[in-house]
Amino acid sequence: MFKAPRGTADTLPGEQPYWRYIEDRALEICRLYGYSRISTPAFEEAGLFQRSVGEGTDIVSKEMYIFKDRSDNEMALRPEGTAPVCRAYLEHGMDNLAQPVKLFYFADIFRYERPQAGRYRQHHQFGCEAIGDQSPVLDAEVIHMALSFFSALGLTDISLQVNSIGCKECRPRHLQKLIEHYAPLKEQLCADCRVRLEKNPLRLLDCKKTACQSVADLAPRSADYLCQECGQHFGSLQGYLTALGIKFVLNHRLVRGLDYYTKTVFEIQPADGGSQSALGGGGRYDDLIAMIGGKPVPGIGFAAGLERIVLNLKTQGVNVPPAERPAIFIACIGVDARIEAYRLSAALRAEGIPLVMSSGERSLKAQLRHANAAGVKYAAIIGGDEMEAGTVMLRNMQTGEQQETRPEELVAMLKAGE
Ligand code: AMP
Repeated sequence: MFKAPRGTADTLPGEQPYWRYIEDRALEICRLYGYSRISTPAFEEAGLFQRSVGEGTDIVSKEMYIFKDRSDNEMALRPEGTAPVCRAYLEHGMDNLAQPVKLFYFADIFRYERPQAGRYRQHHQFGCEAIGDQSPVLDAEVIHMALSFFSALGLTDISLQVNSIGCKECRPRHLQKLIEHYAPLKEQLCADCRVRLEKNPLRLLDCKKTACQSVADLAPRSADYLCQECGQHFGSLQGYLTALGIKFVLNHRLVRGLDYYTKTVFEIQPADGGSQSALGGGGRYDDLIAMIGGKPVPGIGFAAGLERIVLNLKTQGVNVPPAERPAIFIACIGVDARIEAYRLSAALRAEGIPLVMSSGERSLKAQLRHANAAGVKYAAIIGGDEMEAGTVMLRNMQTGEQQETRPEELVAMLKAGE
């Protein structure tokens, strides 16, 4: 027996109302904030991610699904959504449009991680990118948009964490201080952190291991080493958030795992969640487009994990609208009646009425059992008598009452939602 690959999941019909609910809220938020939808391929040249997300990051060095295609090109399944959108922005000359260009996407994301609750090898993200404007107003707007999305979902028990990791001017100074702080304590660190100390010191700060956390808590803070421009940007952002009444926590250990981030980074957590449970996160990436071959264009974005949202909708007890049920079941008795049942089904569907049509292969009793299982309020039964009279027998599945009805009356009744 084949099974879905480890770390992937089938989303069965019973789960779909949650996904539909999330997608509807996302579409509504994007309409309000003026974002247009973009879809990019599920795989890209691996170099796109190596150059932007960074060779030293976990995502590229350990988690990327990388493969040679049959023409020997090195490709990667999309391990994140921002670099592909920026690639499309450049490829399609969107820098010639009015800036910022605001784009959103739903994308499946592939990372070879150790599967656990809320952590998959293929997961789904809703993401937004505002490209071409460096103002901190936009940072505040993107954060506001993310919070509005969670609030529209009914997920109110959440917290916002914010940090600034500076830019390529000021970050080296902070990194130097970090290395000076960590180097004498190297022996206390986990094996991963010893590698991070060499390859990606910023990531030392968000290690989840207890021993490393106490070292991280006392580590030099990026916000204390910002250059004048980054400092002003961070100050303005906090001013806008405060003016909008948005509560936030400054978290100096929030660095996020991708090299392309500059200045603002943020994450949204469920109030009771640990550090592994972020619902969404984002940040500014003013160097990304230059990293992938364009002129420097600033940008800021946000992405939320849909599986994590479903999990939280369930734990926070949010009711989502159920899937639409068929309005009626069409049953028939005998071979000739099948054609009539098919005609009636076609006529009702043409009127926009959802229904289940029985193939008529089974007894009427079995067909009505099927109708019950389908959860319909009515069944229309067509047999020899009804065919002769040009009517159907309309059965109320709750009461068992039956009544001969003309097809046009049936249409009118179902369209009225009775
Ligand atoms: P990231 O691109 O790592 O910032 O992830 C954005 C959001 O996607 C996170 O806040 C999570 O909600 C979700 N996410 C990230 N990785 C996974 C994963 N492996 N499985 C499920 N959801 C994930």
